[in-house]
Amino acid sequence: MDASTPSTESSTTQPLYRPVGQEIELFEYAYKHQLPLLVKGPTGCGKTRFIRHMAHRLKRPLFTVACHDDLTAADLVGRHLIGPDGGAHWHDGPLTRAVRAGGICYLDEVVEARKDTTVILHPLADDRRQLPIERTGETLDAPPEFMLVVSYNPGYQNLMKGMKPSTRQRFVALRFDFPPAPVETRVLIDETGIAPHIAQRLITLGTALRALGEVDLEEGVSTRLLIYAARLIQGGFPLLAACRSALAESLSDDPEVIAALMEVIEVHM
Ligand code: ADP
Repeated sequence: MDASTPSTESSTTQPLYRPVGQEIELFEYAYKHQLPLLVKGPTGCGKTRFIRHMAHRLKRPLFTVACHDDLTAADLVGRHLIGPDGGAHWHDGPLTRAVRAGGICYLDEVVEARKDTTVILHPLADDRRQLPIERTGETLDAPPEFMLVVSYNPGYQNLMKGMKPSTRQRFVALRFDFPPAPVETRVLIDETGIAPHIAQRLITLGTALRALGEVDLEEGVSTRLLIYAARLIQGGFPLLAACRSALAESLSDDPEVIAALMEVIEVHM
C-alpha cells in the first residue's frame, strides 16, 4: 500500500476481489456484531484489496492509515493546528473521522506503530467502543457502523516486534496467504488482461519461487509482483526481462540469489 498519508475512500466502482475461503462471511459477521478484525498475512497477498472490497460492499467510507514507527496517537486522533487567523483549531485525525462517520478505519502494518500509539485503540477495540480525545476532553461513542480493522505481516522481520497481547487479544483474526493457483491465475488475468496460458506459467513460476523462498529469501514472491511481471509482459517486454525486473531484482540484491532466481525463471518461462 502506498499511503504515507491517511487516505479516505468511497469509490463508485467496487474493487474486484476473488474470495479464497470464508473471509467475506467472516468480515460481514464481524461488522454486524461490532468485532474488531485483525488481518495477517505476507505482503502483497490481497489484504488491502479485500478490505477495500468489503468497505464498498458494506457501503462504509474507508479511512486507511499506513503505520510507521513515528506514528503518534495525535496522528490518529487529531491535533490543534494554527489557522490563518493565528488561533488554534482542532483537526480530527483519521481514526476520529472514521468514528464520527461510522466508517471503517484500516491501520495497515499496525506492528510498525509504536506500542504507546496502539494503546489508544484499546477502549475502541473492546466492548466499550469509545474513543477518548484527551486534548479536547471529548469521549466519542462509536456508532454501530464503525469498524476497526488492522493488518500486519507476521513474517520474518516482525517476529521480534509482534503485537502486545493486550492489543491483539481484542481482535478476531483472519489469516491470509497467497491465493491458491486457480484463483491467483484469475487475478492475474483480471488485473492485466494477460493471456491465460502465460498467466498459468507465471503462477507455476511463482509457486516454484515460493518453494525456494523459505531457504533463500526473506519472503515469497507476492501476488503483487506477479501482477507487475504480467503488466511488463503486456507492455511488450520479453518474458525473461519482465521476470528479471518484476521478480528477481525485486526479491533480492544479492547477485548469487538473483542468478539462482533467474535459473528458476528460465526453466518456467
Ligand atoms: P497486501 O496484502 O500487501 O495489502 P494488496 O491487497 O495490495 O496486498 O494485494 C496486491 C495485489 O494482489 C492487489 O492489487 C490485487 O490485485 C491482488 N490480489 C491478491 N489477492 C487477490 C484476490 N483474492 N482477489 C483480487 N485481487 C487480489
